[in-house]
Amino acid sequence: MKIVVKIGSSSLTTVTGDVDHGAVAKLCAEVADLINQGHQVVVVTSAAITAGLGPLGFSSDNRPSEPELLRAASAVGQIALMATYKGHLASNGLMAGQVLLAPTDLWHRKRYLKSRGTLQALLGQGIVPVVNENDAVADDEIQFGDNDRLAALVAHLIEADALVLLTDTAGVFTADPRRDADASLIEEIIEVDQHLESVAGGPGSMAGRGGMASKLAAAKIASWSGVETTIAKAGRSNVISDAVDGIAGTGTVFRARRQRLPARKLWIAFAVPALGRLVVDSGARHALVEDRRSLLPAGVVKAEGSFRADDAVEVVDEDGAVFAKGLVRWDRTAIDDQAGRSTHELPDDLPREVVHRDDMVMLPR
Ligand code: GLU
Repeated sequence: MKIVVKIGSSSLTTVTGDVDHGAVAKLCAEVADLINQGHQVVVVTSAAITAGLGPLGFSSDNRPSEPELLRAASAVGQIALMATYKGHLASNGLMAGQVLLAPTDLWHRKRYLKSRGTLQALLGQGIVPVVNENDAVADDEIQFGDNDRLAALVAHLIEADALVLLTDTAGVFTADPRRDADASLIEEIIEVDQHLESVAGGPGSMAGRGGMASKLAAAKIASWSGVETTIAKAGRSNVISDAVDGIAGTGTVFRARRQRLPARKLWIAFAVPALGRLVVDSGARHALVEDRRSLLPAGVVKAEGSFRADDAVEVVDEDGAVFAKGLVRWDRTAIDDQAGRSTHELPDDLPREVVHRDDMVMLPR
């Protein structure tokens, strides 16, 4: 099996913000067990920023807000983090390979394939890829921001069989267990829907950026990638193999959809940020959703946001409900000029479709 294990900052650092050697040692021993059983494992690790704050003179209570200081902290913390992984993997006879990814590595097809090739080569050599976001040069506007989503995209990238998100709670609860004594663990989730998102929403601890909302978003991406996700407590013994073996009570399991969305569509739906919106009329909505047609200018009511041809945009109905996302073939100005026109009225230099159906994905709701 190919397994992606993501572990959050709060599970990897001590209260003072240092890398928790015991936590890394436990994780590495479990990874080694899985590899000895013949599985391939990619680790997605957080905590570079948290581990770098102390050396820069900050603590978790006076975390700086300036992005450049956080980037600087990550540059320092990432080394401490990797040194710890290197040591503990080596004690288990394994080699670590650091892979730092930025969103653009997954948006551009060539780089996406290159990133996949690197991960496959590492796995093929029996090396454990240890992935993090390239925080030191992350762009505030376009960073992944949380490693949950990054881990789901990595799971998709390598066509993993399972994604395990390790955190400091036992999974998803019916209510916030920190505030409600009656909250109980949800063991199985078939589909992430809006109700669940509203129950589980809200950021988690101070150390990480993820929280439960970003874990649900990650589980959704993984599910559409055909990958089963488990959210479980990092401190539980044998947590990864129990999750992979489907042992009841390990955490919350999100079932994968039977149909894996093709890589390109998944990439459009979840990896590329939307830079604008196209509001379409009910006829166009029907043509897109029911008949899987391309979006033509006649059905476009108006455009919002600032985008150019080839950027990603959301497609919304006149009530503002987002139901699709796609790569637009026209610049915003062309849409402003031509929205509502029928195809034969268009200037010759414009493509016939505003969004071609091959570049569009109907979004899960
Ligand atoms: N990439 C960030 C780090 O290593 C963590 C993001 C997160 O908390 O998910 O510090």
